[in-house]
This record gives sequence, C-alpha cells and structure tokens, in this order.
Amino acid sequence: MAKCQLIAGCLFFNDKMQNMPAISGIYKKNYCQGNNSNCARFMVFQALGREKVPEDLFPNQRDRAETLIKS
Ligand code: SF4
Repeated sequence: MAKCQLIAGCLFFNDKMQNMPAISGIYKKNYCQGNNSNCARFMVFQALGREKVPEDLFPNQRDRAETLIKS
C-alpha cells in the first residue's frame, strides 16, 4: 500500500511527539506505510485540516479523532 502523503511533516512519524509509545514502529508500519485511512491523525487532517490535528494525537486514537470531528 502507498505511504501516507503526510509522512514528511508528520510529528508522529518523525518522532517529534512526547511519550512515543514503545510500539510506535508497528504503528508506522500499519498506518504510515500501510493504511493511513485508519490513522486518527489522518482522519482529523482529512475532515478538519492539518492545523486542527492535535500535537498529542496518536494514530490509534480513533475515538478521540471521531469526537473531534463531530464537535
Ligand atoms: S498515517 Fe498518520 S501518523 Fe502516519 S504519517 Fe500519516 S498522518 Fe502521520
């Protein structure tokens, strides 16, 4: 599958977030280099724009992303 188009500037992919989870390598494989449509950060980007993606939102936090998108 294609790489996420946000990889170059993504805080998560570039290890710029606080408290990076130990399994972040797996997330990068599954989301960033796999299926970004399941990534919470990408979901918020698509729905609301890049500036609305919280700095501390991790790819697996879909529930939080959905709440943000609905609010
Ligand atoms: S899949 Fe998500 S975490 Fe990965 S580069 Fe894209 S927006 Fe960033």
